[in-house]
Amino acid sequence: MKQAVLVINSGSSTIKFSAFTQQSDQAFLSGLAERLGAQDAVIRFSLQGIKSEQAIPLADHEGALQALIAFLNQHDLPLDSLSAIGHRVVHGGEQFTGSQLIDDAVIAGISACVPLAPLHNPANLLGITTLRALVPDVPQVAVFDTAFHQTLPPKAYLYGLPFSLYRDFAVRRYGFHGTSHLYVVQQAALCLNKPVSELSVISAHLGNGCSAVAVKNGESVDTTMGMTPLEGLVMGTRSGDIDPGLHQFIGDKLGLSLDAVTNLLNKQSGLLGLSEMSNDMRTLANEADAGNAQAALAIEVFCFRLARAIGGLAMSLTSIDALIFTGGIGENARNVREKVVAQLGLLGFQLLPDANENNGVLHDGNIAASGSKPILVIPTNEEWMIASDCLGLI
Ligand code: ADP
Repeated sequence: MKQAVLVINSGSSTIKFSAFTQQSDQAFLSGLAERLGAQDAVIRFSLQGIKSEQAIPLADHEGALQALIAFLNQHDLPLDSLSAIGHRVVHGGEQFTGSQLIDDAVIAGISACVPLAPLHNPANLLGITTLRALVPDVPQVAVFDTAFHQTLPPKAYLYGLPFSLYRDFAVRRYGFHGTSHLYVVQQAALCLNKPVSELSVISAHLGNGCSAVAVKNGESVDTTMGMTPLEGLVMGTRSGDIDPGLHQFIGDKLGLSLDAVTNLLNKQSGLLGLSEMSNDMRTLANEADAGNAQAALAIEVFCFRLARAIGGLAMSLTSIDALIFTGGIGENARNVREKVVAQLGLLGFQLLPDANENNGVLHDGNIAASGSKPILVIPTNEEWMIASDCLGLI
């Protein structure tokens, strides 16, 4: 597997993986280990389109990575022949402004960010330390979700809180989905034939988590997510922005601890909470089409809040070259793009309905009407972005 790069996204009970050669931005291997720690833990592989799976009962992260290594060996793809291993790391705090070759100091830096992302960074670290122990000679690279947003100016990243909270505990807005936003911004630059350093766009990454960013001259200058990925847009199960006074109100009314309220805001809110049905946009769109009023209302709220956020982000820019939609919803949900863009006429955006209908695939990704500023639908490829950062660093 010379010249191949393995990309690892290690979560609390899952590990997603993919592998690329330098020649293609399409992974030749991808897969997922899930339900780690449980009796029904499983690892699934797709190697050049051929799918297989293996039960790995009670396997932890190390067990899942051992199963991945065994699979690679079986297919004549030994791990020690890799060019590099890239790891998605959720939180890089203020320390990491770009991808890093992993050494002891980088591991210490990622550990220092654990209080900022207590669910994510420990899982990311587990993937890093396990693979470092298994193949110490293969260079490993950390790619941070927060790094792209380290260009935010203080006026955009500070909360209206006592300054000591920032000074003593690094309480500020960081922003996430940076790898995805950077990838689509680079793709937009190609599409618009303009250098990234001269590009000003608003990018909306709409998946299970959702965030939007204002990019000025290629740099993130404002974004919707904050200290944690709970701030900002309405998402699949996350509330996004709410009145901070609601923590106490909800806790009092429902008799919930602060932890339980946080859980409600992360796991039982957003599209799921509003619709009382599903966090999945496709399901809700089908239900709304079939006349379900509550599903339609959940979509209305999602779209209204997104359009409002885009309007706010635009105020950080002096000009806009394009609006970008990406992520599972951004790339596929015509109804969402239609509702959102209908609210953005003031910014010079108008949809071409036919192009929107086919997700832009027949229009080079541009779903804007003539006379409108470009509205681009760009499939994200975070894994390739991580792989190409690895290749750049080694
Ligand atoms: P993740 O953030 O987990 O990577 P994705 O980027 O895959 O998630 O986005 C998942 C979301 O995309 C879900 O809400 C799903 O319903 C939505 N989605 C995927 N395909 C479609 C479609 N054809 N129409 C509407 N929504 C879709």
